[in-house]
Amino acid sequence: MGVLFGTSGVRGVVGEQVTPQLAIGLGSALAAYLGNSGAVAIGKDPRTSSDMLEGCFISGLLSGGCNVKRLGMVPTPVVGFATKRLGVKAGVMVTASHNPPEYNGFKLFDSDGMAYTTSVEGKIENLYFKKKWKKATWADIGKIEKADIVQDYIGAFAGETELSREYKVIVDCGNGAATFVAPLALEKIGCKVVPINSQPDGLFPGRPLEPSAENLGELCKMVRSNGADLGIAHDGDADRVAVVDEKGTVAFGDELLALVAASQISAEKSIVVTTVDASRVVDEVVGNRDGTVVRTKVGDVSVATEVKRIGAAFGGEPCGAWIFPGFSMVPDGLLGAVKVLKLLSDSGKNLSELLGPLPDYYTARKKVACPDEKKAKVMSSLPKRLEGAFEEAIELTRIDGVRLGLEDGWVLVRASGTEPIIRVTAEARTPGRANEIVKKAVKILRAKSGK
Ligand code: MG
Repeated sequence: MGVLFGTSGVRGVVGEQVTPQLAIGLGSALAAYLGNSGAVAIGKDPRTSSDMLEGCFISGLLSGGCNVKRLGMVPTPVVGFATKRLGVKAGVMVTASHNPPEYNGFKLFDSDGMAYTTSVEGKIENLYFKKKWKKATWADIGKIEKADIVQDYIGAFAGETELSREYKVIVDCGNGAATFVAPLALEKIGCKVVPINSQPDGLFPGRPLEPSAENLGELCKMVRSNGADLGIAHDGDADRVAVVDEKGTVAFGDELLALVAASQISAEKSIVVTTVDASRVVDEVVGNRDGTVVRTKVGDVSVATEVKRIGAAFGGEPCGAWIFPGFSMVPDGLLGAVKVLKLLSDSGKNLSELLGPLPDYYTARKKVACPDEKKAKVMSSLPKRLEGAFEEAIELTRIDGVRLGLEDGWVLVRASGTEPIIRVTAEARTPGRANEIVKKAVKILRAKSGK
C-alpha cells in the first residue's frame, strides 16, 4: 500500500503527486472515515491550484454524503479554530505551507481542530488506497454552505489581549493565506500596522514562502526605515511566524521559541513540548521558570499529539510553528505574533533586549550520503558506537533518529525520509566545539555507510 501523509499532511507537486483525482479520492475517503454523515469545514491558501483541489475535495465529501462549510481563503489556524467553533466533524486546509508555488496538498483536522494523529491518517490512507468508500444516493448528496469565521477567530484572542502602548509592526504575509487576516488581527489589538506582500497571489512574487532569515531582507529593511518596533512574517498558510527585532535583525527561532515557551508556563501547567532538534536554550530558559521540556519527533503532528497527551502548557518547533493549547491545537502564526507583542508589552523591553541576555549556542550540520537500503542497518548500530566515541555522553534518546546528550551540547543523527542521506546536527557553546562534535559523528557514520 502506498503512503499519502508526510509529517504535515499530504503534499506534492500539482499534476504529479497531487492531482484532482487524488483530491476527489481523499475527500471520499474522509467522508467514509466520518461515517458518510455530518459536516466538514474547508479552507484554502491562494495557490493557483487551490480552487481546483478544493472543488475536487468538496466533490468527494458531497458524494460521500457529508455537508461542507466553506471558509474561503484563510490561514490554517483559522481552519483549526473553525472546526471546533462550528461543531463540524473534521477540518481540511488546502495548502502546501511554505513549499514553492507548484506544490499543493491537504492538512486534515479532527473535531477538536487538532491534526489527525498518524494512526487516523493510516486509517484514511487505507480507505483511500482500497477505494473503500460509499457513494450517497441522489437524494443524500451533501450540501455546501459558506461560513465567515474570521471575525470570530480574531475576536477570540483580541478581546483578551491588552498592550501597554501602540506598537508599530511591519507584517509580511508573503502573498499567502494570511494577507487579509494578519494585518486585521494586529490592528484589532491596537497596533499600527504596515503590511507588505499583502495581496494574495498564487505565484508568490514577493518572496519565497519559507520565512527564514535569507528570505526576509525586505522586511528587515522596512523595520529599520520605518522605525518599527517589530517585523512579523508568515509562511504560506500562516501556521508559522518569524520575527524581526526593532534593529531589523531576524530573531533566532530557537531563542524566540524559548522565550515564548517560558511565558506560557503557569503554576498549574509547567510542561512544554518541543522537538528533538530544538536548542538547549529552550531547556535553560524554561528551566529558569521551573518548567520542564518534553521532546518529540520533528513535525507539528507529533508536537500536537504529545501536547494533548500530557496536557502541556505549550508546544512549539524552532521553525516558528507554535501551539497554544488554551486557544487551539493547531500551530498558529498569527496568535504567535500576538504573544510576542504581549511579551514586549509585559516586560516594557524591546525584542533585542529580551533576546540579548539568553545564552549563546551554536549549531553545526552535515549530510552523509547513505543508500536507502543501508539506512536501517547503519542507524541500528549507531547508539552503541556513538556512546563509545563520546565519553562525555549523559543521555541517549531514540525519539527520532539517535540523539546523544553531552555535558556541553548534543548531537542528533536522523535518516532522511525523502533523500538517500543521513543528517547530523550538533549544538555546543562555541562554533568550534559544534563542528568538532559533528565531525566525530560523521566519521563514525562514514565508517558504516560505506561513503
Ligand atoms: Mg505552514
